[in-house]
Amino acid sequence: MFDTLYRNIHIATMVGGAAPYGAIRDGAIGVTDGKIAYVGPASGLDADAEVKEIIDGGGQWVFPGFIDCHTHIVFGGNRAREYEERLNGASYEDIARRGGGILSTVRATRDASEAELVASATKRLARLAADGVTTVEIKSGYGLTLDDEMKMLSAARKAGEQAGVSVTTTFLGAHALPPEYADDKDGYIDHVADVMIPAVAEAGLADAVDAFCEGIGFTPEQTARVFDAAANHGLKVKLHADQLSDLAGGALAARYDALSADHLEYASAGSIRAMKEAGTVAVLLPGAFYVLKEHKRPPVEMLRSQGVPMALATDVNPGTSPVLSLQLMLHMGCTLFGMTPEEALMGITAHAAKALGMAADRGTLEVGKRADMVFFDIEEPAELAYWVGGVTPAKIVRANA
Ligand SMILES: [Zn+2]
Repeated sequence: MFDTLYRNIHIATMVGGAAPYGAIRDGAIGVTDGKIAYVGPASGLDADAEVKEIIDGGGQWVFPGFIDCHTHIVFGGNRAREYEERLNGASYEDIARRGGGILSTVRATRDASEAELVASATKRLARLAADGVTTVEIKSGYGLTLDDEMKMLSAARKAGEQAGVSVTTTFLGAHALPPEYADDKDGYIDHVADVMIPAVAEAGLADAVDAFCEGIGFTPEQTARVFDAAANHGLKVKLHADQLSDLAGGALAARYDALSADHLEYASAGSIRAMKEAGTVAVLLPGAFYVLKEHKRPPVEMLRSQGVPMALATDVNPGTSPVLSLQLMLHMGCTLFGMTPEEALMGITAHAAKALGMAADRGTLEVGKRADMVFFDIEEPAELAYWVGGVTPAKIVRANA
């Protein structure tokens, strides 16, 4: 007995180890109570099954709803004017002197009400959703006071409800040094570990904790302080690791059984081996690589040969990745990083779910999982990575809609 039966479709189940893309041609999907109750060849359906509604897919391809597993999509203002000034010849120093850069986003985020943050983030989430995204991870990290970080996390959940996408939240208090703690990074990290993480955990506003471990961010020791506090409050961790230099961030993340280590352009072989052993997903972010005009690619060949699952995400943020298309990341992951189209698509489905600790109920089209599905009028799955900017979905089905 199905609420809805989709017939005359080709299915990219994204279940690994079977055919490429876990593909089933001439398949059918039965949905009951928002969950997949049948997925397989049309010929395998029980002819006597009761069906409330039958939908003819017209030969379209069906994928699991896409998952954007790394975003900073809640923020005040934007940095388009700064972008324009730079292209008109202003230097980074000029812009920093005028109060630009990340601290201008911190100011604008602090100045915004929660309702204003919800409204602007909902618009941006709608753009991601139109691209086929059904689950989005959203980080805090532009408030940098307890109240402003809580405001961001609460706004993230509300924006998800308004945009009709499933949202998971990550507390990123250790993103940048707030002006109140200038020259006192250790003092700020004490505040994050001893005050902010306990309060955020108590309020139930975050599903995970993240940090920016980098020369221009926080040291591995400071990051470990944050991770210890997260572990003490039962929160999983993720890490901005080895983006601009090798601080062994991948290995640090693995030591804390992190869900994911993200960026990884400079990750060493030792970090990658540690991630493999810990089951930590490598989240690759070609949008920031492109905007920053970086040259050092993440070690995709090593990740592949070690069998570390690779995910892809937009890293939506106002400074280094003003990107609102997850499908564009498929193309960039292939063209800039050398991923295969199948790896790229695993990166926004099955592996993205794993990077969020959500693989039990989404990321592949399998019986028992959420019926989050996106339909395309294409000849073959690789088209989604091939077209620059992707393909407009023919239909999007959301389990929570
Ligand atoms: Zn990020």
